[in-house]
Amino acid sequence: MNNSIEQELESHNIRVTAMRLLIYKFLAEKQVAVTLSDIEDDFEKSDRTTLYRTIKTFEEKGIVHKIDAGSSTAKYALCEKGCNCEIETDLHLHFHCHNCNETVCLTAHKIPQIKVPDGFVSENVNLVIKGICDKCSGL
Ligand SMILES: [Zn+2]
Ligand SMILES: [Zn+2]
Ligand SMILES: [Zn+2]
Repeated sequence: MNNSIEQELESHNIRVTAMRLLIYKFLAEKQVAVTLSDIEDDFEKSDRTTLYRTIKTFEEKGIVHKIDAGSSTAKYALCEKGCNCEIETDLHLHFHCHNCNETVCLTAHKIPQIKVPDGFVSENVNLVIKGICDKCSGL
């Protein structure tokens, strides 16, 4: 698995470090979006600044995307392969469960094309569906 992660990092011009590999793996193993404190909890011995910078680098290089699910803390999730975080093609809906407080990527559901008025420039869109997830609904 390490080899393919290294390739993934390198293809985004990210220098491979042990910490970056570990954080990438941590994100890859999660089925849900994580907060910085989730990462801190899992990397107790690591310096917070390093963790924070790693996520920032991943975000800047387009490996993770930030999700504003309306709670006070931003969440992060790995991007799909080939994602450029483009509004028209890559951004997808998210689902936030208010029972377990987890946020998942609905990557099969892209953000609908929204035409903004002339002169407006879109930079980011956050579309979050709120409700109860499949684990909590018991359906
Ligand atoms: Zn992306
Ligand atoms: Zn839930
Ligand atoms: Zn997502």
